[in-house]
Amino acid sequence: MTDPEQPLAAQRLADIQTAIARAAKLAGRAPADISLIAVSKTQPADAIAPLIAVGQRVFGENRVQEAADKWPALKEATPGLALHLIGQLQSNKAEAAVALFDAIHSVDRLSLVTALARAMDKAGRRPACFVQVNIGDEAQKGGVATADLPALLAEARAAALPVAGLMCLPPAAVEPAPYFALLAKMARDHGLPGLSMGMSGDFETAVTIGATHVRVGTALFGPRA
Ligand SMILES: *Cc1c(COP(=O)(O)O)cnc(C)c1O
Repeated sequence: MTDPEQPLAAQRLADIQTAIARAAKLAGRAPADISLIAVSKTQPADAIAPLIAVGQRVFGENRVQEAADKWPALKEATPGLALHLIGQLQSNKAEAAVALFDAIHSVDRLSLVTALARAMDKAGRRPACFVQVNIGDEAQKGGVATADLPALLAEARAAALPVAGLMCLPPAAVEPAPYFALLAKMARDHGLPGLSMGMSGDFETAVTIGATHVRVGTALFGPRA
């Protein structure tokens, strides 16, 4: 299936879309209900442009400053791009994040809820928010503790944050399916439709368990420098 006219990333994109569609069908889901976020962190604009050229429109970055350096020019050249923040966000960067991103996947504490709500009111712009859950309750991991999720969601709703769903990064090097299933149950229990879960190594598993957003970097771009 290699086409010498197409850059490697574009070929990989087609393969990943095929794999997402296959996993969706296995689970009785419509492939169109899954959004592939191409995680372009550390990748230069030259590496991103071929994916835009073949129609990829949704990208993920983990740092506000890097995204602010890279994306305004790309966005201006191609209308309709959507940029998702998938990395931890400091409250003092909330305004910059609200200005630049179309979705924020790392809402994990009350101070950030407050800062984002204020930034959205000021900007008149309301990016969709995902609450990140520390689904394995790991000591070093970002995300709200599972026991604290109900309280944080109540606070997010009280602040009128547009909460679209939940996000997680399961513990490394163990079978992720039980963690994906737990996140899916938590989202159901709270009436949230969005599930941001699944990366290069496990996006197909995540899709069979209900992921609506998969975040894929390495499988698209190759290993990061
Ligand atoms: C880097 C990153 C990804 C993509 O990981 P790959 O294994 O390269 O696909 C997904 N989600 C988050 C939160 C990340 O930081």
